[in-house]
Amino acid sequence: MAKAKWKIYVATDLEGASGVWRFAQTRDLTSPLYVQAVEYLMGDIAALVRGLREAGAARIVVADGHGGGDNFIPHMMEPGATYVTGKPRSPMEGLDKTFHGVILLGHHAMKGTADGVLNHTQSSATEMRYWYNERESGEIAQTALLAGRLGVPVIMVTGDTATCREAKSFLGPDVVTVATKRGIGREAAELYPLQETRAAISEGAKRSLQAISRCRPYKLPMPIRCKREWIERTEHPSETRTAVREASIRDVTRICTF
Ligand SMILES: [Zn+2]
Repeated sequence: MAKAKWKIYVATDLEGASGVWRFAQTRDLTSPLYVQAVEYLMGDIAALVRGLREAGAARIVVADGHGGGDNFIPHMMEPGATYVTGKPRSPMEGLDKTFHGVILLGHHAMKGTADGVLNHTQSSATEMRYWYNERESGEIAQTALLAGRLGVPVIMVTGDTATCREAKSFLGPDVVTVATKRGIGREAAELYPLQETRAAISEGAKRSLQAISRCRPYKLPMPIRCKREWIERTEHPSETRTAVREASIRDVTRICTF
């Protein structure tokens, strides 16, 4: 296939962006720390889009994925892509079977990963955890399943070193990973300078297009046995308990909300 035909979908999150390591940077939309973190994310996106364009991607759709999904800064949009943001919309709005690959940019390791910066699965407030067919899975696997249902493989993942390790473990050795920092603890990291992470992201983007033919869509045997566990408050405000829900599902769009 001529390389100029590549269509790429980019699913973004904030926790794994260059320069982000504290929850204070990711939760309060009125905080200057949050505004700065989103600027870091926009810089990572720009580096990715430049790399993809230089390598011949014809269409790039970048989707805003963190929290409520209102994170993009329009005047920092790199030309050569379109940017999906706001609500309401489905988690992978605009992705269809005609795309050749999905890139997870700025992602993070699953809840409980000791060296995973800002590790969580869906909700750090309720410490949500998910299992599919008995394997504990985080947001990398969840997003890969949503793409895999359409037959589209994840071809590249960026985030801390724990995120990169989790991506290879679920998606195999051919997915391109780019570390934006080395994870030490939940709010501790060895940060890499932004100029260096962005150069690595651009270079990784080019390699990811070459990896498309080797990457396979992530799928699980049906029906998927799902389990979800989270912390909830009891009638006594100071007490908590662990809640569990289990389901057997065939509709992959329900893997987070069963
Ligand atoms: Zn997030």
